[in-house]
Amino acid sequence: MADYKTFSIETDADGIAVMTIDLPGKSMNVWNGDLIDEFTAFMDEFAANEDIKGLVVTSGKESGFLAGADLTMFGGMPKDAGPKDIYEANLRLQNALRRMETAGQDPKALMKGQATAKPVAAAINGLALGGGMELALACHQRFASDNGKVQLGQPEVQVGLIPGAGGTQRTQRLAGVQKAIQDCSLGKPMKAEEAKAAGYIDEIVPHGELVESAKAWCRENPKSVQRWDKKGFKIPGGAGAMDPRAVPVYAGASAMAQGATNHNYPAVRRILSAIYEGAIVPFDTALRIESKYFTQCLMEPQAKNMIRTLFVNKGAAEKGMARPEGVPKAELRKVGVLGAGMMGAGIAYVTARAGCEVVLLDRDVEAAEKGKGYSVKLNEKAISRGKLSKEKSEEMLGRIQPTADYNDLADVDLIIEAVFEDPKVKKDVTEKTQAVIRDDVIFASNTSTIPIKNLAKNFERSKDFIGIHFFSPVDKMPLVEIITPEGCGDKALATALDYVQKIKKTPIVVADARGFYCNSVVVPYLNEAALMVKEGINPALIDNCAVHMGMPVGPLALMDETSQELGWSIAQSAMEEEGDDYTPNGVEDLLKLFVEDLGRKGRKVGKGFYDYPEGGKKEIWKGLSDHFPLQNDQPSADEVKERLMYVQLVAAARMYAQDVVHDPQSADLGAIFGWGFAPWTGGPMSHIDTIGLEEFVRTADSLAQKHGEKFTPPQMFRDLAEKGQTLYGQAEKAAA
Ligand code: NAD
Repeated sequence: MADYKTFSIETDADGIAVMTIDLPGKSMNVWNGDLIDEFTAFMDEFAANEDIKGLVVTSGKESGFLAGADLTMFGGMPKDAGPKDIYEANLRLQNALRRMETAGQDPKALMKGQATAKPVAAAINGLALGGGMELALACHQRFASDNGKVQLGQPEVQVGLIPGAGGTQRTQRLAGVQKAIQDCSLGKPMKAEEAKAAGYIDEIVPHGELVESAKAWCRENPKSVQRWDKKGFKIPGGAGAMDPRAVPVYAGASAMAQGATNHNYPAVRRILSAIYEGAIVPFDTALRIESKYFTQCLMEPQAKNMIRTLFVNKGAAEKGMARPEGVPKAELRKVGVLGAGMMGAGIAYVTARAGCEVVLLDRDVEAAEKGKGYSVKLNEKAISRGKLSKEKSEEMLGRIQPTADYNDLADVDLIIEAVFEDPKVKKDVTEKTQAVIRDDVIFASNTSTIPIKNLAKNFERSKDFIGIHFFSPVDKMPLVEIITPEGCGDKALATALDYVQKIKKTPIVVADARGFYCNSVVVPYLNEAALMVKEGINPALIDNCAVHMGMPVGPLALMDETSQELGWSIAQSAMEEEGDDYTPNGVEDLLKLFVEDLGRKGRKVGKGFYDYPEGGKKEIWKGLSDHFPLQNDQPSADEVKERLMYVQLVAAARMYAQDVVHDPQSADLGAIFGWGFAPWTGGPMSHIDTIGLEEFVRTADSLAQKHGEKFTPPQMFRDLAEKGQTLYGQAEKAAA
């Protein structure tokens, strides 16, 4: 038997082969070029070799079964790859799975009972997502471990694709049309029990008996044929336009899928088409239909943008793309966190969860203990949901040492400061810390608004001073901005990136400008929404338009979250600092009214643009229209959406033009993971490329005429538009 690198094959005395997939050098199995080549080669052998009577497919990885396709494969396709190339590349995997399922027999002969296939069983030990779930579904029988780690799911839609290895067809043939539409178009993972109830899993067995159970099933079913290759097979619950049971299901499920994704994902429409059309034709034709729709997705800019940002560039950033070469990896055994307030407590939690010791310092031990209490609460929640064991929680909490004594910082390897946003307090704690830490320790500040270069002056080794800017709540928000002030050394940047990698977040490196990158875009976006309120635009229209555009929450709700109080305090300090140079943004009076006159300081006090009744649902504050009466003629939803979209696009464009964010990749990552910018676009820079620079400049200029200079696009974008270039094209050229 040939020697394979991506899996091993062991055949027992009964002729049952066990394929253990274990991609060398990877923490998780994925479909990549090597695995597809070898899997295809083995399936020829499986079909031809009469000594192999059956097959069990399992994984050699503790991390799971197989987590989908390596999407960088698509990035690696020739730039001029056309639809035919993509269609055929996709068919290769479909065909290999089909060969496994039929043991190379003619499906018509199987259907007529003139031939049989060979039994194939999946032994699923953990995550089986995307192409991993599709591999499992192509097996005749599926066994899942009871280890609690098994999850099945078809998340392709989240990168603009449809399942392309039979997912849309096998899900409906196992679980029915409604469940298939739900699973393929929402992309949510499901646990083993739910998958079993749906019909995707046949048996959940004790972990130690997983492979043996699958082997036993193969021995007991030597003449196995896949369900849909048997005569008389029917999709459970009915399918097709002529089936009266299925017709309302198509209507309802389509509305549900499009409603949940607000028509922003063209892949959803294609999933619905693939499921509908595929139900009424023979299985092999259905696979080709799926492949056609898969190809259409990949030919569109949207899927390319999403794959590039959410997969390729995210992965590259997390692997340390921006890390300076030649600096040894930082050993981060113990981290000092200064300030145990909202941010410090969150930072202590993610750091201890990553396995580091944490010294959590505040003004007194009580405050520090309270900060540690945040980790206690999060752990209790995780324990109650069965996501964390008591022992692991104890161990993790044992790593957090609350203190008010600076001497406890003597042996830390990194400092992260998150005390009050007050330069004097920051100066004081920096000097006290400097006096006790080793002279090779990097000092990072989590300030939101104070220039890092000003804070670095408080530290003797200013080259070792850097900004590590988290977002709130720290345990949930995936992005971290790393701010390199002038004179910042390579070691500081490398250490900051090593730290962010350790806590498993996504870093972008940005310049030391007021608000850095993300807040420089979020603030004008929130202000625009507040201006709309002042103009008398219906607040529900404003927030709903943002959600329909793909933002996770509306800007008014977001402003309540971040708090009007913070907005007002930022505005006040900018006015104070900039004096006569301060340019009013038009919402100062609204913020002052909310905070000082009305006490509507934000969600934290239960009052902002919305009211937050205890235990009830939030609702727009009824008194809002007394202060800002509604216009009789409300703008159209398209107008509101365009304004909310372009205020972000132009602000992000300015940050790129000013080199606050250094490349389109980071601008896109920061937007999606920092403030939830509509993920279906691939980020603001990708979206501008998709719109086309010329069109972007034209629309922005016309908005500037109506709503002011904040919509005026930067000159750099006009120049690129004139030259007919794209942002990514130009950045790639510059990098080369
Ligand atoms: P917070 O008020 O919740 O916490 C500040 C903590 O610092 C308090 O526990 C306070 O007791 C402690 N502290 C004050 N003076 C101290 C001293 N002399 N020595 C030791 N501890 C002291 O504030 P926060 O929201 O956690 O913000 C902290 C920092 O993080 C600020 O610089 C802020 O700009 C920044 N930040 C905040 C957010 C946010 O959304 N809140 C987001 C990113 C960054």
